[in-house]
Amino acid sequence: MTELDLRSKIRDIEDFPTEGILFKDVMPLIADPAAFRASIDRLAAWAGPRAPDVILGAEARGFIFGGALAYALGCGFVPARKPGKLPWKTVEATYALEYGTDSLQVHSDAIGSGQRVIVLDDVLATGGTARAKIELVEQLGGTVVGALFVIELSFLHGRERLEGYDVHALIEY
Ligand code: AMP
Repeated sequence: MTELDLRSKIRDIEDFPTEGILFKDVMPLIADPAAFRASIDRLAAWAGPRAPDVILGAEARGFIFGGALAYALGCGFVPARKPGKLPWKTVEATYALEYGTDSLQVHSDAIGSGQRVIVLDDVLATGGTARAKIELVEQLGGTVVGALFVIELSFLHGRERLEGYDVHALIEY
């Protein structure tokens, strides 16, 4: 499956969730067996050599790609969640979104000192979410060995907020 085939499975939705946002909907991609497998294979091809101990992904789409990627690599998965969702002690980071602000939490024992972590998301937009995930990893003493995305909206310059980190996206707009 070529990059073009993967692109053809991403649906553009205008004015969602607010006016002026062109939402990149990955639901057709994950519903397609060949496209979903190809996207996980490609994420794994980039992530594998970086030898992560865990993949960190945020709800909800980060769970879908992150769980499958962790399985493919044989490493662990750490969920980052909206405040109040995780049952144990947490650490928190707040960030600005392309639309609004939010916070993410992870369990405070989810990442050990010196563990190698890849932060993963479906879309890199302004980079705020990815920055927050990096902050969470570093608060816990982990090392971010990559920031990985299915889609990068390069016109929003999210990469600039991730300077100094190893950043990769399968599809760039
Ligand atoms: P950001 O923090 O601005 O990089 O935004 C990234 C997060 O918001 C990711 O979890 C995306 O799933 C979501 N997101 C932001 N902008 C878009 C968009 N245009 N299309 C789809 N998802 C988006």
